[in-house]
Amino acid sequence: MKKVRHHLLFCSVTLILAVLALFQIWGNSNSGKIISANPPPGKQLAALSPSLSLPSMNTYWSRITNTYSANKNNPPIIAKKPLATDTAPAGASVVKKQLATGTRDATDLYIIRSGKSGPVVMIVGGVHGNETAGYRAGRILRDYQISRGTLLVLPEANTRAVNQGVRYVSGQKDLNRCFPTSRNGSADTRLSREIYYALKKYNVDWLMDMHEGYNYSRLKSSSSVGQSLIYYPSSSTREVASKVVNNMNSGINTSYRKFSLLRYPTKGSLSRAAGQYLGVKSFIFETCSRDSLSTRINYQLRAANMLLGSLGMK
Ligand SMILES: [Zn+2]
Repeated sequence: MKKVRHHLLFCSVTLILAVLALFQIWGNSNSGKIISANPPPGKQLAALSPSLSLPSMNTYWSRITNTYSANKNNPPIIAKKPLATDTAPAGASVVKKQLATGTRDATDLYIIRSGKSGPVVMIVGGVHGNETAGYRAGRILRDYQISRGTLLVLPEANTRAVNQGVRYVSGQKDLNRCFPTSRNGSADTRLSREIYYALKKYNVDWLMDMHEGYNYSRLKSSSSVGQSLIYYPSSSTREVASKVVNNMNSGINTSYRKFSLLRYPTKGSLSRAAGQYLGVKSFIFETCSRDSLSTRINYQLRAANMLLGSLGMK
C-alpha cells in the first residue's frame, strides 16, 4: 500500500513538471514573432504608422485554428480613421508643428484646440504658391480662436512656391497632383505624405483647401475654375457648400462673377484623396485673381467662417 501511494505521488509530480515544461516551450516559441518584417496583405494597415505595431492576437489565433491561409485573402476592413495617435494636452492650446522637417519643404502646421470636444477642421493655403489669397487668409486663420473642437491650419503648404510666387518651383511636381489616386496608394513626396498623414493622425472631419483661378468659372470663354466651390460629394458637404455659395452670391450683382458649385476635385488633389479615401468632408474654395486681393482674402475668410460657424466652432 505504501509502495502504491509512493508511486502515485511520483506520477503526479512528473505530470505537473511535464505541463510546466510545455507552457515554457509555448511561451518561447511565440516571443519575438509579433511583428513580421514583411506583413502579409491583410496586415499592411500597420504600415500606415511607423509607431504602430501589429497586435499579437492574430498570430496566436492563426496558430491555434490554422485558418490564416483562408483569411489572408480577406483583409480586415480599414477603418475610416484608423490613426488616433495624437495626444492632446488638456484645455485650450495652440501648438505649432513642422511637416517635412529637415527638408527644403519644411512648413508649419498650427493645431488650435478649444479644449472642448467637437469637430476637427483642417484649412490649407499655399498648395499653389501663386494663389496669394489662400496663404494670406491662412496667415490670418492661424491666429483664430475657436469655441469647440480643433482647427488645424496649414497656411503655406508649399513654402518654396509661396516664397517664389509660382504654382510650384522648377523640379517640383505640382503639389495638388501628389496625393493618392487609389485607396491603398501613397502620396508622391515627403511633403504630401506628411500632409496626408496629418489628416489621419488628427482625425480630420472637414477639409477646406484654399485656391485661386485666373478667371471666373461662369464665363463660358473661360476654362478656369476661379470663383467656385468644388466639393467631394456627401450630403453634409453639399449642404454646407450650398450655404457658402449662396451666401457669397447674395452679395455679388454681376452674374458671371458669382460662385459656381462644382463637384469632384481633380484626381491627385488633396481634397479628392481626403474625400474619396479617408471619408473626410472636403472641398476646394477658389477665388478669382481678377478681383482685388483684399476682396479675395475676404471671400476666403468668409467661407472659412461659414464652415466653422455651421459646425458651432465660432
Ligand atoms: Zn490652386
